[in-house]
Amino acid sequence: MAIPVMKPLLGEEEALAAAEAVRSGWVAQGPRVAKFEQEFAARVGAEHGIAVSSCTTALHLCLHLLGVQAGDEVVVPSLSFIATANAVRYCGGTPVFADVDPLTGNLTAETVAAAITPATKAVLVVHQGGVPADVKSIVAAAGDIPVVEDAACAAGSTLDGKPVGSGALLAAWSFHPRKLLTTGEGGMVTTDNAEWATRLRRLREHGMSMSAADRHAAGGAVVESYVETAFNYRLTDIQAAVGLVQLGRLDGIVEQRRALAARYHELLAPLGLRAVTDPAHGTTNYQSFWVALPEDAPPLLDVLSSLAAAGVSARRGIMAAHLEPAYDGHPHPALPGTEELARRSLILPLHHELTDADQKHVVGALAEALGLVAK
Ligand SMILES: *Cc1c(COP(=O)(O)O)cnc(C)c1O
Repeated sequence: MAIPVMKPLLGEEEALAAAEAVRSGWVAQGPRVAKFEQEFAARVGAEHGIAVSSCTTALHLCLHLLGVQAGDEVVVPSLSFIATANAVRYCGGTPVFADVDPLTGNLTAETVAAAITPATKAVLVVHQGGVPADVKSIVAAAGDIPVVEDAACAAGSTLDGKPVGSGALLAAWSFHPRKLLTTGEGGMVTTDNAEWATRLRRLREHGMSMSAADRHAAGGAVVESYVETAFNYRLTDIQAAVGLVQLGRLDGIVEQRRALAARYHELLAPLGLRAVTDPAHGTTNYQSFWVALPEDAPPLLDVLSSLAAAGVSARRGIMAAHLEPAYDGHPHPALPGTEELARRSLILPLHHELTDADQKHVVGALAEALGLVAK
């Protein structure tokens, strides 16, 4: 049995909550979605939460809201899950790849400033693997250009002493099982802007002037109208029921992941391996625990195969969109920080059932795969 790289923490409480939603007869977007939106937004320090079907659709709605269209550029890191760059293409815009700091995996004020042109309509900054990006300095570098936060991985991370999401213009979140909180599939947009929140609610629901829940609440005969061409990006009440239980687990999940990460740091230090850690301006939830491989390490695939043979399910480090076939021929500047991390980092198992013996086994297997001995 291999040690899995990630395992969602789901219990009987989630199963009961989902069953209760089913028994209630209201399974589509309804009261549980509304409650989940309020509680999630409150937890991340935002005024409004708009639940959607995924972080991918959340990102699409944010860029659509900002009016990104053909001819517009959006600055994004290439070092991210492919959905970040794709969201720009959904709007007909052009993703402009900016480099990341190989120490954090995140965009910096300098790399963003270098990528801005007169066609830049927005900047999409990612809190990669849960490591908070230095949003304040990036916002300063962007000037009048709106900065959207891809916070898919960052529930429970902090930035400048507050939760990631607090003070964000627009932040997009994911509840995919690979993230800390899960609803199976699911996402959220958070914002402090009430007008935007209203428009986003409409955009996720076919451009309808009122939601099904509003119509139901109104009781009498009311007819909705469709005021703009929009999307069906709704979350269901079954998913929200699960999300509400998951939200109650967040603090405990983050605390445990940070303790496990601290143990990995202790075990890796004697090998001279650098691993992801808190940046100066915040704390990570350690959604992904990545290790940078030394210059002379064997190829990444060989290391992953050796680990797999030792029963350790690791993953390549965070991907780089510009290296994927979908972005073949897409122009980009030199991206040395991005390529260093994409080619020379890997993600180690980190989940709630990981034991101290597992961690020792993982680091031992990694040392062997790399031909390293502890100093
Ligand atoms: C996972 C992830 C996404 C996509 O989230 P989904 O909810 O699966 O659509 C987007 N951006 C980043 C940085 C991610 O890690």
